[in-house]
Amino acid sequence: MDIKTVGIVGAGQMGNGIAHVFALAGYDVTLNDIAEENLSKALTIIEKNLDRQLSREKITAEQKDAALARISTTTRLADLGASDLIIEAATERETVKNAIFEDLQPHLKPETILTSNTSSISITRLASRTDRPEKFMGFHFMNPVPVMQLVELIRGIATDEPTYKALLAVVETIGKTAASAEDFPAFIVNRILMPMINEAVYTLYEGVGNVRSIDESMKLGANHPMGPLELADFIGLDTCLAIMNVLHEGLADTKYRPCPLLTKYVEAGWLGRKTDRGFYDYRGDTPVPTR
Ligand code: NAD
Repeated sequence: MDIKTVGIVGAGQMGNGIAHVFALAGYDVTLNDIAEENLSKALTIIEKNLDRQLSREKITAEQKDAALARISTTTRLADLGASDLIIEAATERETVKNAIFEDLQPHLKPETILTSNTSSISITRLASRTDRPEKFMGFHFMNPVPVMQLVELIRGIATDEPTYKALLAVVETIGKTAASAEDFPAFIVNRILMPMINEAVYTLYEGVGNVRSIDESMKLGANHPMGPLELADFIGLDTCLAIMNVLHEGLADTKYRPCPLLTKYVEAGWLGRKTDRGFYDYRGDTPVPTR
């Protein structure tokens, strides 16, 4: 199938990055969110990120303008009906994702491919709730999407070969690299990354180190470009907690239990950068550790 039009559901940090990358690669993009203000915020961020690429001479002014012109926004899911490919990038909650696919279905062409950018939820289970499990895949981008090279492709048990091949071709067109992962909780990257982040929160919770010493240790001692707590703030603490819960429940192993301190931050609404406070407070000029 020749994919030309892409519908993206959810205009948060992932949705806006995915829209950016697809529009730059020449796809017509329709970006959807429940709130108009999230859509205008997403367009502002996309423009800012395109400007950054322009100032670094990664793209030309013509490419920037053409990319922006290819993105339209809507709060109505029905407006995504003409899309050849749907990428769902809404909040990491299974009921939210199921409802989106259910509402979308009556408006879609029979050949449209459905994908989810979920970080951890079973692709097979999400697919089984739709009318086309053979045309359903996990399409897992990394944050920030315009910068990160990897895309995980996850086949559900029913995903057919043409769907997989079509997505492999799309990954090539957008200039990224695909890694295939089997459909088990959190796939490859988050299966490895999230327990490390969770362990960093336990290290903080047990007082082994403070926010700064934990992040500095992993940057200088393990050569990580970002500390684990800084990275957790960047990903979003609600997303981190949701992924740990999926690992804990899906693999039924206590080694994946989410740290109570991570839960506490999420309960406080301190979700990291997106709410201006998490393991660091971002409300001033420089981030200040909150513990
Ligand atoms: P986010 O909180 O920044 O954005 C989620 C967006 O979805 C919000 O704008 C929200 O209004 C919107 N939304 C919620 N319900 C909706 C609905 N019914 N219809 C349309 N829009 C709806 O979250 P995010 O970090 O962009 O994560 C989105 C998805 O991407 C999640 O599944 C997450 O697991 C996955 N993901 C996140 C990261 C990361 O680092 N944050 C990386 C890879 C994948």
